[in-house]
Amino acid sequence: MSVAVRFAPSPTGLLHVGNVRLALVNWLFARKAGGNFLLRLDDTDEERSKPEYAEGIERDLTWLGLTWDRFARESDRYGRYDEVAAALKASGRLYPCYETPEELNLKRASLVSQGRPPIYDRAALRLTDADRARFESEGRTPHWRFKLEHTPVEWTDLVRGPVHFEGSALSDPVLIREDGRPLYTLTSVVDDADLTITHVIRGEDHVANTAVQIQIFEALANIEGGGAVPVFAHLPLLTDATGQGLSKRLGSLSVASLREEEGIEPMALASLLAKLGTSDAIEPRLTLDELVAEFDIAKVSRATPKFDPEELLRLNARILHLLPFERVAGELAALGLDEADAAFWEAVRPNLSRVAEARDWWAVTHAPVAPAADDPAFLAEAAALLPEEPWDLSTWGTWTGAVKAKTGRKGKDLFLPLRRALTGRDHGPELKNLLPLIGRTRAQKRLAGETA
Ligand code: GLU
Repeated sequence: MSVAVRFAPSPTGLLHVGNVRLALVNWLFARKAGGNFLLRLDDTDEERSKPEYAEGIERDLTWLGLTWDRFARESDRYGRYDEVAAALKASGRLYPCYETPEELNLKRASLVSQGRPPIYDRAALRLTDADRARFESEGRTPHWRFKLEHTPVEWTDLVRGPVHFEGSALSDPVLIREDGRPLYTLTSVVDDADLTITHVIRGEDHVANTAVQIQIFEALANIEGGGAVPVFAHLPLLTDATGQGLSKRLGSLSVASLREEEGIEPMALASLLAKLGTSDAIEPRLTLDELVAEFDIAKVSRATPKFDPEELLRLNARILHLLPFERVAGELAALGLDEADAAFWEAVRPNLSRVAEARDWWAVTHAPVAPAADDPAFLAEAAALLPEEPWDLSTWGTWTGAVKAKTGRKGKDLFLPLRRALTGRDHGPELKNLLPLIGRTRAQKRLAGETA
C-alpha cells in the first residue's frame, strides 16, 4: 500500500512553529516515500473553530510550499461519524453514561485523594434499563464512552520504539458528547481508516490517545472489515531555550508573525524545523527538495528540541546571503523596490538578516544621502580622480588605486572617509558593488559634502 500521511490541525488558532514542524515532517515523509499528504481540518469543535483560522492554515502551508494532495474537513463528515457510532453502539462497544461533569469531578477527586489513578469506574455499565429510563425522564441525555478491552496495547513507534500500555490503566474515552456531537478521539480514527492513512506522525502529547485509538481502529475493523492500524510516530514537542513549552508564546511564534513581522523566509523556517531535534546539522537549504533528500524519520531524536528565535534569524540571514534575485524579486517589489535588480540584490544581500532591510540600502544607492564628509581636502582629491562612466565592478578598485597613488593613503585612512562620504555610514556592503549603483553624479556630489 502506498504511503499516506495527514496533517490534522484544529482551526481554533494560528499555526505556530510547533504545529507547522509536524506539518513539515509529515510532508517530507510523504514526499520521500513518493506518498500522499492529506490536509485535514479537525473542525468538529464548532464553538472554537473559525473560518479565518482555516484560511490562515492554508496560507501558512502554501507559503512554506507544503502542498497537499488531498483535503478533508471533519465537519463535512458528520453523517459518516453517526454511522460508525451507531455500529459501535450496536456491537456494545459504545455505552451511554449519565454522569454530570460535577459528578465526574467528584469521582476523580475522590480517587486522587486515595492515591489512585483517576480512571472512570464504569458505573454506567452497571445501570439497568430502569435506571436509564429514570435518568432520561429527568431530562438527562447520555454521553457515550468507548469500552476499552482490558488487554495490553502495544506498538512500535518510529520515534519512541516499542510502547506498551495496559488497557486497564486507561479511562474509557468519551466519543460522543451529550449533544450527540462526535469527539476528536473517534473522528480522527474514522478519517484515518476511511482515507487509508498508513502513518500517523504527531506530537508526543498524543501518545495516550494512540493507545485508545488503536483499540478503536481494531473495533472498527472488526465491525466493518479491512483497515490496518497505521504505523505511529510521536515526536517530542518543541520547547523554548529554557526548556519551557511554547504555549505561552504562541502569538509571537505563529507562522503568520514570523512571516509578516519578523521577515522570516519560508526556507529559513523549513531548514530549521526539518532538522531541529534530529541527528543532522542545521544548515541553510534553498529548496524543499534538498530537505526531502536528507529526510529520514530515523534521525528524529527522543530528546526535547529547543526552538530559539535567534537561531532562526541567523539562519534567515544565511539563506538571504545565498538566495538568487529571482527568489526575492516579489518580496522586494512588495517593499516598493520594484526597480531593484540583480546587481542591487547581490550588492546588499551579504548585509541583510531580513529582506526588508534592503530598503535601507536602496535609500543609500537611490535616494539622497547626507554624507559624513569630514575630510574635505582628501575627498576633493578623490572626487577629481573619479573615472568616467560606464562603471562596473572594477571601477572601485581602479579609482581607489589612483587615490592611493595620489594621496599616499592606505587601509582605513583611505577607505573609511570614502565610505562615510558615499554612504553616510561607517559600515555596509562592499563599495565595489555599491559604487556603480550610486553612480558618478551622486558620488561626486556626496564627495563634495552635498546631500545627493
Ligand atoms: N487535531 C488534532 C490536534 O491538532 C490532531 C492530532 C492528530 O494528529 O491526530 O492535536
